Amino acid sequence: MSPICQTFGRDFCVRGGKRAAIFVDVDGTISEFEPIIQAARAHFAYLMSMLGFNSKHALETVFASERAITPGMGFKRDRFPTAFVNAYKTLCKEKGARPRKHVIGICQALGHSPYFVYPTLFEDAAVVLADLPKDFLVIAVTIGDTDVQNFKIDKAGLANVFDEVIVTPIENKAELVREAIEHYNIDPKLSVFIGNSKGTDGATLAVTNFLYLPLEPGWAGDKAVLPETSEFTMWTAKNWREAQRIIQRLVAMRQWSHDHAPEAPVK
Ligand SMILES: [Mg+2]
Repeated sequence: MSPICQTFGRDFCVRGGKRAAIFVDVDGTISEFEPIIQAARAHFAYLMSMLGFNSKHALETVFASERAITPGMGFKRDRFPTAFVNAYKTLCKEKGARPRKHVIGICQALGHSPYFVYPTLFEDAAVVLADLPKDFLVIAVTIGDTDVQNFKIDKAGLANVFDEVIVTPIENKAELVREAIEHYNIDPKLSVFIGNSKGTDGATLAVTNFLYLPLEPGWAGDKAVLPETSEFTMWTAKNWREAQRIIQRLVAMRQWSHDHAPEAPVK
């Protein structure tokens, strides 16, 4: 990567010619995610109850179906339609009934319903993100499909906030952040990852600081154990305004490291 760390109106340079970055998760951190998924599952359970299946069992079956296909499919947008159809077929099999074509079609439509929905942003998310310190690279790191996640960012009015959007179909954020740190020549101690999931986002504590913003529970469950680190710091914020105050600490750390940078050796 080029050692140039300045661009028009922005100076990313920190000690050692490196840059500082703010990584941000999207689903459940910037905009609501779980309520949309829960609504789709609830509609599926209602549909199954109309067909004579037990709705609670239908819900359990769809959860099991989601878990079963995730290792092979990741979090691509076929995941929910496939899980809903598989769950319906499982319920039919249990009852010795033949799956109906029209019901399969409705299951697929319900599975697609959480995607390309106008995002509902958490309070102050947009204003804090739009006001991030301009001398940090701002990178979204999000799980899903590129077109779905870009739609969300675009409709949230945040497309200009991010210098880059990294989309991944699987839970490998720590690896992607490690690669970005190398690619952009980032100083991980003067950077941070902001996310709502202790599991998928918390894994990045192995490679940079982590700001835990649990606005809704993460997919992997928030009982996940964070990586042990003596190098990086974890902060917790209850809302985006608190997160903003923590980001200000990072700005102060960056300034301190700048003021205390060792003199360049005289050649
Ligand atoms: Mg999330």
